[in-house]
Amino acid sequence: MIPPGETIGILGGGQLGRMIALAAANLGYRCHVFAPEADSIAADVCAQFTQGAYDDEAALAAFAAQCAVVTYEFENVAAAPLAAIAPHAPLHPPARALEVAQDRVNEKSFVEGLGGRPAPWAQVDSAEDLRAAVARIGTPGILKTRRDGYDGKGQWRIMQPADADRLELPAKPLIYEGFVTFQAEFSVILVRTATGDVRFWDSAENVHKNGILDRSTVPAAPVILAQVEDARALAKKVADALEYVGVLTLEFFATADGPVFNEMAPRVHNSGHWTIEGTLTSQFENHVRAICGLPLGSTALAARGVVMDNLIGDDAHDWPKILSDEANHLHLYGKAAVRPGRKMGHVTRLVL
Ligand code: AMP
Repeated sequence: MIPPGETIGILGGGQLGRMIALAAANLGYRCHVFAPEADSIAADVCAQFTQGAYDDEAALAAFAAQCAVVTYEFENVAAAPLAAIAPHAPLHPPARALEVAQDRVNEKSFVEGLGGRPAPWAQVDSAEDLRAAVARIGTPGILKTRRDGYDGKGQWRIMQPADADRLELPAKPLIYEGFVTFQAEFSVILVRTATGDVRFWDSAENVHKNGILDRSTVPAAPVILAQVEDARALAKKVADALEYVGVLTLEFFATADGPVFNEMAPRVHNSGHWTIEGTLTSQFENHVRAICGLPLGSTALAARGVVMDNLIGDDAHDWPKILSDEANHLHLYGKAAVRPGRKMGHVTRLVL
C-alpha cells in the first residue's frame, strides 16, 4: 500500500494526467509528471515535472526513483524503455497492457484469443495486402495506422475497391477493418485492484463527430443496456489476463448481433469524464486508489442520468454561456492554444 503523502509519477502531460493529479491531490498525494512537451497542462497542477523523451531510459529511471508508483495517461509510449522504471517503482497498469493496446493488430488478436469479436480485419503492409484485404473483407471499410492513431487520426475510409487503388499508402504498418453497421457505440470502463477486485461504471452511450467523442450519455439506450453484460464479461477477461491494475476502457459497437469490440485504452478515458460528478467515485479517483493499493470507492450513480459534452476547438470560447447555466459543471483543461479538433474541456450535466 502506498499511503497518502507519497508521490505518484504520471507518464504523459495532457488532460487525463491533469484530472488524475487533481483526484490524487484530493487524497493527499503529490504527483510528478514526465512528458516531452515543455508546457504540460498536467504539470500545471502537479508538484513536480520532468521534461523528457519517453525513450530516455536514464531520465525515466531518475524520475521513477522519485516516485512511489508510476502510471501513464497516454498509451503511445514505447513499452521497452519503461523497463527502466521497474527497479525503482511499480508501473500500473503493466507495460504488457500498453504493448497490447497501442497496436491495433495486437489488440484485436489478443481480444479474439479471449473470445471477443472485433470487426473483420487484416494486417496491411503493402498495396497488394490492401487489395487482398478489400477482396476478402469487402467495402466499405476503414484503413487505419496500427499505431499512434487517436481521435480518428490516421484513418482512411474505403467506400469501393477503386478507392484502395487510388490511395497512396503511408509508409507505416496498417490495418484494414470492415465497416461495422452499428446501432450505437458504448464503452465499458472498469477498475481492477492488484488483488483482482473489479468494479464497473455504468456504460455510457458515446456519439462521435469526425472521429472524436462528442457526447457521452448515461443511462445508455436500451439496445446498449442489453449488451453491456457480454461486453463486461470480455472486459473482465482482458483485465484478468493482463493482471491489470487501474482503470481500463474497452469501446464497443452495439450491433444487431451483439457487441463488437472496437478498441481498448489502458487508462482513464474521455467517455468516463462524466463520472467526476455523476458517480460516487470517479474513474480518476478509483484509478489512484487502485494503483496505490487503497480500497476502491463505490461506482454507483449519483444522479438519475448524466450527459457529458466535449468542448472541441472553438467550443471552449462558449465558457461564459456554459457558466450562465448554474447546473453546468465546466471543466477547462488550461490549453493555451485553441486548435480545430483539439479537446479543450468538457461540460457535465446531471439529471437529478
Ligand atoms: P477509432 O479511433 O478506431 O475508435 O475510430 C473512431 C470512430 O470511428 C469510432 O468510434 C467509430 O465511430 C468510427 N469507426 C472506427 N472504426 C469503425 C468500423 N470498423 N466500423 C464503423 N465505424 C468505425
